[in-house]
Amino acid sequence: MSALPPLSANAGWLARSRAAVWHPCTQMKQHETLPLVPIARGEGAWLVDFDGRRYLDAVSSWWVNLFGHAHPRINAALRAQLDDLEHVILAGFTHATVVELSERLAALAPPGLGHAFYGSDGASATEIALKMSFHAWSNRGAPEKREFVSLEGSYHGETLGALAVTDVPLFRDTYAPLLRRCATVPSPDARRARPGESASDVAERAAQGLEAHLAAHHATTAALIVEPLVQGASGMAMHDPRYLARARELCTRFGVHLIADEIMTGFGRTGTLFACEQAGVSPDFLLLSKGLTGGYLPLACVLTTDEVYAAFWDDDTARGFLHSHSYTGNALACRAALAVLDIFRDDDVIAANRAKAQRWAARAAALAAHPRARNFRNRGMIWAFEADNPRPDFARWCFARALARGVLLRPIGRTVYFMPPYVVTDDEFALLCDTAAEVLDAA
Ligand SMILES: *Cc1c(COP(=O)(O)O)cnc(C)c1O
Repeated sequence: MSALPPLSANAGWLARSRAAVWHPCTQMKQHETLPLVPIARGEGAWLVDFDGRRYLDAVSSWWVNLFGHAHPRINAALRAQLDDLEHVILAGFTHATVVELSERLAALAPPGLGHAFYGSDGASATEIALKMSFHAWSNRGAPEKREFVSLEGSYHGETLGALAVTDVPLFRDTYAPLLRRCATVPSPDARRARPGESASDVAERAAQGLEAHLAAHHATTAALIVEPLVQGASGMAMHDPRYLARARELCTRFGVHLIADEIMTGFGRTGTLFACEQAGVSPDFLLLSKGLTGGYLPLACVLTTDEVYAAFWDDDTARGFLHSHSYTGNALACRAALAVLDIFRDDDVIAANRAKAQRWAARAAALAAHPRARNFRNRGMIWAFEADNPRPDFARWCFARALARGVLLRPIGRTVYFMPPYVVTDDEFALLCDTAAEVLDAA
């Protein structure tokens, strides 16, 4: 009997995963040809598969990771928390970790957001903010304010409520019959500049669209929801901070809540701790998740104002905020978040990132000058461009090609982006640029 060739450890896990695990955002049939990559462990910005191959995690594992995988300080914080308390019901009970996290988030967030409500993931933060906004208006005697407005190309999650304020056709259209219709207003995406227009002009033009909408519909509108500075999932569309300043002013003038979805942009991604800071605005609701735990554990937080909080303060239970999920304020997740905030403070991460982005500017400029790169743009620790006239299967093809070179890139359509963990080195950033250039050469 001839011996079979040894099956690679990767191949074994791949087959078992394909059979037993239904992967997200995936046509599973494509995995007949496109391999799944079974990851054995993470080391800083790198993922290592079961055959020992290494991949630079240029998408921060779906935008959640901040300081690399298996970070010693976050690991130590979680081990310490495990010995005290893993979880406790947060209705009628509280614990030190959730209190401390709430206080520290309120101190770091734009002014006036002193009340923290916890959810399980980004989409749940969106759901909480929509319900809370409507209910606050309703408690204040304006139950007719129950419509929401979002931007063209917006993404706020994929549960039914969140999907209703999401404008990404691939995610939304199939489920449209299940959704409550929601209005969209023009995106301030700087790529929409007409000849002679600056990014600030585009922002102003979009703000005028918002103004017209609110002027007509403010009486029935509860809230506007925006992704500040960068609309991620529709393709890293970046806009001028002026839009946020105008949106804040218009929401205040028309009596509409402003919900800032900083699920992706929060925690330093756009160059400041929160993107809203760059416009000097405080929203009525600030949504946080993804980087909140450094990419360790699912957790979301909705921060809101005294005014919203006061709208629920009453003897009547039904006028309280009626939203519960079993793992609210999970102690382990909150402890990971505290460890993340410690790292920001102790390592002066925002300043360090700024210095890195400056050091990398020449490298990035070389990639921007590639004849097949369009609309090259950078904000904080996000770089993006469109591949000019690519092959129809560009996103999948690019993913496979980069993977073969040891880089995890996951284009959105023809938009290639880097959103690496903040711990990437100069050499690793150079590898990203070289890989992207090689992909463009071959595309
Ligand atoms: C990822 C994301 C969400 C949804 O978060 P999930 O944890 O995936 O549900 C919502 N809004 C924005 C801006 C996001 O990037």
